[in-house]
Amino acid sequence: MVNYNNIKPLIAIVGRPNVGKSTLFNEILGENSAIIDDMPGVTRDLHYEDINYFGKPFTLIDTGGFHIDEDTDVISKGIREQIEAVLSNVDGVIFLANAETGIHTSDKEIFALLRQHSIRTWVAVSHIDSARKEIFASEFYELGVDEIFPVSGKTGFGTYDLLDEVTKDFWTEKDIAEKLPKEEEEIKIAVVGRPNVGKSTLVNAIIGEDKMLVSPIAGTTMDPIDSLFRYNEHKMRIIDTAGIRRKKKVNDLMEKAAILRAFRSIDRADIVVFLMDSNEIATEQDLRLLGMAHAKNKGIILVLNKWDLIEKETGTYENFVKDLRYRVKFAPYAPIISISGLKKLRVNKLLDKIIEIFQNYKRAIPDEELTEWLESAVRRTPPPLTKKHKPLFFSSAKMLETKPPTIKINVNKPNSLHFSYHRYLLNRFYATFNYEGVAVKFVYKKKSR
Ligand code: GDP
Repeated sequence: MVNYNNIKPLIAIVGRPNVGKSTLFNEILGENSAIIDDMPGVTRDLHYEDINYFGKPFTLIDTGGFHIDEDTDVISKGIREQIEAVLSNVDGVIFLANAETGIHTSDKEIFALLRQHSIRTWVAVSHIDSARKEIFASEFYELGVDEIFPVSGKTGFGTYDLLDEVTKDFWTEKDIAEKLPKEEEEIKIAVVGRPNVGKSTLVNAIIGEDKMLVSPIAGTTMDPIDSLFRYNEHKMRIIDTAGIRRKKKVNDLMEKAAILRAFRSIDRADIVVFLMDSNEIATEQDLRLLGMAHAKNKGIILVLNKWDLIEKETGTYENFVKDLRYRVKFAPYAPIISISGLKKLRVNKLLDKIIEIFQNYKRAIPDEELTEWLESAVRRTPPPLTKKHKPLFFSSAKMLETKPPTIKINVNKPNSLHFSYHRYLLNRFYATFNYEGVAVKFVYKKKSR
């Protein structure tokens, strides 16, 4: 009997190209879809979104198409490895096939892989938009499953039936709040960055090579092994130390799986330590991981590692900072620190910074203070009129929760709010309150004046 992780599980939509994965993904998201942001390339090849299905939180990912040779209709060894790597990082799979094109050899192959991995699987068949057409799904019983879910990503037909079943055993938010043991507060840290930036060297510098490793949550399918340690009086946890230490293949076929693994770590973390090699900072791949941390409203520290290798003159550090700020425009709140994991240079300063940011991450602000701030920001620079020349009125602000700090702002026309004004309010927020290092979250709610 496999023990599944039902606490905010990670569910992937998997299937050969063009069966309708993205359409189904978007349909399930529906109104849940996140607010527009100007983040570059965050979700280009791995779409993921947090969903709350009738109180049950989970994360849905669209892994994108695995390239399958159209002519031969078989999956290559490389693709097979990619699929398997993805499977070992998720809690369940919605396997999607297409009723219009019927069953393909590659459908059977992918499904066989799912079976081999004993991964929880729900078989859905797309392009079925009414009960009358359900008959076209029957061909797929050939796969040997008890239940097939006919769906239409276009019209939403069948998606509730599918999701009811998928989420049947998932924990509700209430379950999570009540059943999970209340433990001493710990600071959860994800150390992320491209291969060879020095993650495992840094982790070793912090905890030593042979410190205790512990399994994250009881009943998880995954194997990430965390490490716990104390720094001053604080209990700290580095997430997935095992994954950081595992030496990866040189030719990285597993990019999707690696991103997925980093994604999982970021998702569980309070603070994301974003490691870069000072010799090559903030490449596009770097920014993608960082964008995830930003989008998930984590605490973030930008770390210039291997600082010992940099030839220093007056202004070297300042120039690095300037360059990095320019490249990482979306996270001006994140502090920058230069360290050497190898030479153990400023590693304690990094830990101090983590603690400082964690204090910000869990800080609450009283409602009156927030509303006062909002009024003064609006007075200082009033919002422009909407496209239809209507005025925007902001009435009040309230902190909905901390970890991450989530602020509700009441406004008469939330959908007409321009991104640049959102950016302005964020800037005013950071200028007024000390939330250094934290990607605070604003949600705009409609409230008439
Ligand atoms: P990971 O893939 O991110 O875990 O990177 P590693 O920790 O395995 O480091 C990759 C290489 O960079 C190794 O050869 C390390 O010795 C080296 N390295 C890591 N941190 C530093 C550092 O701060 N300074 C220098 N000079 N080399 C480092």
